[in-house]
Amino acid sequence: MSSSLEKMSIYFKKRYVMYFITTIVVFCVPFIQINGNQIFLLSFDHKQLHLLGVSFDMQELYMMPFLLILMFLFIFFITTLAGRVWCGWACPQTIFRVIYRDLIETKLLKLRKRRENKQIEPDMSLGINKLKKAIALFIWVVLSFLAASNFMWYFVPPADFFAYLKEPLEHEYLLIFLIGIAIFLIADIVWIKENFCIYMCPYSRVQSVLYDNDTIMTVYDYKRGGAVFDPKGIKMWKKPEIANAECTGCEACVKICPTHIDIRKGMQLECINCLECADACTKVMGKLGKETLISWTSPQSIDTRDKVKYFRFKTVAYLVVMLIAFVGLVFMGSGKENMLLNINRDQGSLYTIRDNKNVENAYIFLVQNTNQEAYKFYFEIENENIKIKRPLKPFKVEPGEKSKQVVVLYTDTNLSQEDKKDTAIPIKIRAYALDSKEKIEVERTSVFIYPPKEVMDKK
Ligand code: SF4
Ligand code: SF4
Repeated sequence: MSSSLEKMSIYFKKRYVMYFITTIVVFCVPFIQINGNQIFLLSFDHKQLHLLGVSFDMQELYMMPFLLILMFLFIFFITTLAGRVWCGWACPQTIFRVIYRDLIETKLLKLRKRRENKQIEPDMSLGINKLKKAIALFIWVVLSFLAASNFMWYFVPPADFFAYLKEPLEHEYLLIFLIGIAIFLIADIVWIKENFCIYMCPYSRVQSVLYDNDTIMTVYDYKRGGAVFDPKGIKMWKKPEIANAECTGCEACVKICPTHIDIRKGMQLECINCLECADACTKVMGKLGKETLISWTSPQSIDTRDKVKYFRFKTVAYLVVMLIAFVGLVFMGSGKENMLLNINRDQGSLYTIRDNKNVENAYIFLVQNTNQEAYKFYFEIENENIKIKRPLKPFKVEPGEKSKQVVVLYTDTNLSQEDKKDTAIPIKIRAYALDSKEKIEVERTSVFIYPPKEVMDKK
């Protein structure tokens, strides 16, 4: 095998291996649990975010801005570095189109004649082709429901998902989303096709502003192949008319392109970076014992014949800012508490003075068990003069549930420091789970209000 053909098989195999790995990973991730939590789950049902096996309650979503910043920075970074690498190598739209068009329609059903020519649509006037189209559609409908279910598992845990499906009428929203996503996938992959990438995908709209001359993309080597289009984008020749131009004019790169463009015209918004054209040209040029004219490199590298500049100001700057956002995320994540406690003072009177001169303050404690098991919770006051009047016993909270407790604290010690003004005594409350193997506890501060001396003297 010549070196060019070896290169072709490397591109080709890498792309399909990547599609396979991406599909397996996306499909399996919702089933992988760490400490009973998914790797990623945004559950509106349970009001929880699972991230790398850590569960965050909606009240703890202070991490969300860091996550979003990190996600956008990564998109900016990867687009500046490698253009539409996502579109060609991992986007579900591309993978699904390859499965439907190249695997089902072409390889399995022979509805399309050749994978290498995507310009020729099947002759649908033939009865046999109508039957094949119906079979292709049926297979894709089944796969669409599977893909839609897979998508839903990132929002509804698989165990809940299958349980809800047994009672579909009681979970109509799940059903609406599932059927809606499946219908979209069927329409998108069978009828909208690559028009989604060209006209509808928001990512393709924003990415061109992130490109620079060093961004890696699918590039035609006009220096070796010869310029086929003039600066206005008008095609100058079909067969080479320039001396030493290596392009044969075979247009194998054009015929194979799923978005029906001619990459020899230069970078175009429609290019999804699938590198099908590069493979096609490698095959053609390989037979002539030459290197491909279309490769995955940067325009600057084609112009100067230098190596691609991966590390430049823009990419390094994105890396630095991403690192800062990541440190912020880890810092915020490490502050996660393994139970939640909100303390509000009772909205009624500040205090109650009993006949025995005991002073009471009332509070509302909202305790949330953010763990996977039910625990009994109780609390203590870190102030020797303040004691608990109610509740006198620990209370049980189910996993993920909240418990509202009316708490009454009292003191039998005279704590007033002012004749005419109330005294606010800072108190520290330590709440904890009694029956957990690991330490589950939080600390909060509040105040205990004690009446003025003159009020107490009258009692
Ligand atoms: S496949 Fe290569 S040789 Fe053929 S037209 Fe395209 S760039 Fe030219
Ligand atoms: S020009 Fe090449 S890389 Fe771009 S979409 Fe067409 S075949 Fe894919």
